[in-house]
Amino acid sequence: MTEKNYGGTTSHGMKDKPSSSSKNIEKPSNKTKTTDNHKPATQDSFEGYSNFLKANEIALEIKEYVKTIVKPGMPLLELAEKIEQKTLELGGKPAFPVNLSINEIAAHYTPSWDDKTLASGLLKVDFGVSIEGCVSDNAISFDLENKEENKKLIEAAELALKKATETITLGVTISKIGKEIEKSIKSLGFQPIQNLSGHSIEPYNLHSGITVPNYENSSNKEIIPGVYAIEPFSTSGLGSVRDGRLSGIYKLEKPGNVRDSFAREVLDFIMEEYKTLPFCSRWIYKKFSSRGLLALRQIEQAGILHHYAQLVESGKGKVAQAEHTVIITEKNKIIMN
Ligand code: MN
Ligand code: MN
Repeated sequence: MTEKNYGGTTSHGMKDKPSSSSKNIEKPSNKTKTTDNHKPATQDSFEGYSNFLKANEIALEIKEYVKTIVKPGMPLLELAEKIEQKTLELGGKPAFPVNLSINEIAAHYTPSWDDKTLASGLLKVDFGVSIEGCVSDNAISFDLENKEENKKLIEAAELALKKATETITLGVTISKIGKEIEKSIKSLGFQPIQNLSGHSIEPYNLHSGITVPNYENSSNKEIIPGVYAIEPFSTSGLGSVRDGRLSGIYKLEKPGNVRDSFAREVLDFIMEEYKTLPFCSRWIYKKFSSRGLLALRQIEQAGILHHYAQLVESGKGKVAQAEHTVIITEKNKIIMN
């Protein structure tokens, strides 16, 4: 998932570093690249991040899995279900509904339970793995029509991500990361999407306060220890997104109640199962069938939920996305790729 910035602001209030309840000390696996700024990585450098590391390990496997199953013409519904099923098989939970956005839709498209859309064009697969609310957020783009423009857009997003992950480190300004992203994407003749950004992640809080901009925004805000999703979006369009149709992706926004007893049951399920992470109408249908969808509408009308809009490129340009989750500690960083 990504974060849309309203009103041109790209950073919100900072919060404390993640406070994972886990005290397990875990050594990063050899699949994980670690770099250190001052001295060799020690096991305790990642204390408190063990669930994030587990989520990252699973995400890495899913990324490889996705590459083997994505085919032009396959139903998006089948693709979403396979990715979410694989997440469960590997011991994680989907942190949010798989986003499968095509062409000018930049983000926040997930299939409905009866979706008939087929994979085509420039497809972004944005998925998240949660281990007890600790999320690894990742995205990969596919050219499913063998077009040069798609390939170049994907190359631009990937290059920007590579430069950004090289640049992010303790104390670097978020603007410097944005500058690298902007420069990379423009070097291939495209625009970064300026009102979408990466974000810090805390347990059960996917967008926890610090944004990682996709352009040089002149903010002096510095990277502090924590978990960050970096997600450049490249486009042949205007370089911004606007709200499109409602997506069927929701998130609990504030406490509240519903009178109907069945709607209350569905709300209890949402609170227990997803907590404050995003979920979708397809998942509610799967659990409660069509009655669940009616209950969901009642819950939405009670003002308890945020309903995400699809995000569409303002000039209807095609959009590519690449995303990794990075862990920054006092001495180290981990980039999964
Ligand atoms: Mn994200
Ligand atoms: Mn994402």
